Order: sequence, then structure tokens, then C-alpha cells
Amino acid sequence: MIKFENVSKKYDDGTEAVKSLNFEINRGELMVLIGPSGCGKTTTMKMINRLIPHTGGKITIDGQDIDSIDPVPLRRNIGYVIQQVGLFPHYTIENNIALIPKLKKWPESKLKERVTYLMDVVGLDPEVFAKRYPRELSGGQQQRVGVARALAANPDIILMDEPFGALDPMTREQLQDELLRIQAEMHKTIVFVTHDMDEALKLGDRIAVLRDGELLQLDTPDQLLSNP
Ligand code: ADP
Ligand code: ADP
Repeated sequence: MIKFENVSKKYDDGTEAVKSLNFEINRGELMVLIGPSGCGKTTTMKMINRLIPHTGGKITIDGQDIDSIDPVPLRRNIGYVIQQVGLFPHYTIENNIALIPKLKKWPESKLKERVTYLMDVVGLDPEVFAKRYPRELSGGQQQRVGVARALAANPDIILMDEPFGALDPMTREQLQDELLRIQAEMHKTIVFVTHDMDEALKLGDRIAVLRDGELLQLDTPDQLLSNP
């Protein structure tokens, strides 16, 4: 579904963050990108939604070159969750979640239904949380809202950049379990960046190990454990 062919990224200052990456992410697969800080994980992920333009090679989604897709609709069809979730502080939780569907001009009744459904999915009681503001929620709860927001417009692809990295271990584990449950139900194509091998082994259908902008290894968790 997402295909990288000889993809590279050289920043303006000359840094070669990614060097000739080749891999394919299948539809419905949760692919983890792992590696030490600075190995090119975030760069790789952000090239998929064109937040960072690649400088070499070709990236396609379902066979279509992403350079031929307008970035605005491209981004609206790719959910995005980051470590500092960045909810809009002056929007209620329901309005934060409804952001993209609203931009897409979904009818009001469908919006309401979608928000309620998604709050249930991520384990936030709509009765309690819909009208609250982000500052009234814990870090873990805000991250749940981030996941709901990314799912809101029902995108096929979700990009997650260390989404649980700032959470305490217990909350983190809960959200990992939550994500596995959601994935079992929704079969999204997910690219998940982490530098935590335990998290990678727990969540990944496959794990891409990056080092200095290159792909070292691309294996299932079982293969990785038997051939580290
Ligand atoms: P990771 O996500 O694995 O920590 P990044 O993709 O953020 O790695 O960074 C890969 C390399 O590119 C690093 O050497 C980093 O310093 C460099 N880099 C990242 N962003 C920029 C930028 N805007 N300009 C120049 N170099 C950058
Ligand atoms: P832009 O026009 O700046 O590319 P949009 O108007 O599509 O962005 O979206 C507005 C805000 O919502 C931006 O802050 C963007 O990061 C965020 N956003 C866009 N698409 C998604 C998505 N699918 N999931 C979560 N947040 C998104």
C-alpha cells in the first residue's frame, strides 16, 4: 500500500537523514520503525504525508506517486499522532476530535455520532469528557483524544510518532493494549515510530530497524527475536 523506492532525504544543510530506503507496507499492517535517535525515523514518517519533501526516489500510495497528490487532501486522509499531541486548547474534546470531518464538511448529525463512537473506542466516556477542554485531561487521556482525532475522518493510514513516549509505564501499557484492540477491529495501515524495542515487539506486525538513515533489517517480531 505504501511503497518506498530508493527514497532519500538530504536536508538543506547537507545532512543525509535517509539514504536509499526500499520497503513496502501492506494494507492493514502495523509497521514499526525503530532505531536510535537521529537514525531517520521521523524523517521517514513525515515524508509519507509530505510534511517533509523527499529529495530522491519515489513514494507511492496504492500505486499513486505522492508528489502527484495535493498535500492538503493527502494529509486529511492520513491520521497523525505525535508525542505532544497538540490538541487545540480552546476547543472542547468533541470539537478537537471532529476537526478533520468538519473541514471535510460532514453533516452535523454524522459528526456527533462519529465523536461519540470514537470516544468509546479510545475509552473516554463521552458523557464525562465531550464538553471538557484539553487542560482538564491527564496526559494519557489527551493522548487518547489524539488517537480518536487521527481516526476521525476514517483514514486508511495512520502515522504515529512515539505517541506514548511521554506517558508513565502503566498508562503507556494501557494505550498499547488499546491500540492493538483498535487495530484488530479497524485494520488500519499504521506506521509507528518508537525507540523502545519492547513496544516494537509488542505492537509490530513487522519491524523496520533503521541505522544512520539506512534499513538494517525488516522482520516480524518472531524473526527478529530469533535473529537479532
Ligand atoms: P529520528 O526520528 O530517528 O530521531 P530524524 O529523522 O529526526 O531522526 O533525524 C535524522 C537526521 O536528520 C538527524 O541527523 C537529524 O539531526 C537530521 N535532521 C532532522 N531534521 C533536520 C532538519 N530540519 N535540518 C537538518 N537536519 C535535520
Ligand atoms: P493543512 O491545511 O495545514 O495541511 P489541515 O487543514 O488539513 O492542515 O488540518 C488542520 C490541522 O489538523 C493541522 O494542525 C493538522 O496537523 C491537523 N491534521 C490534519 N490532518 C489530520 C489528520 N488526519 N489527523 C489528525 N490531525 C490532522
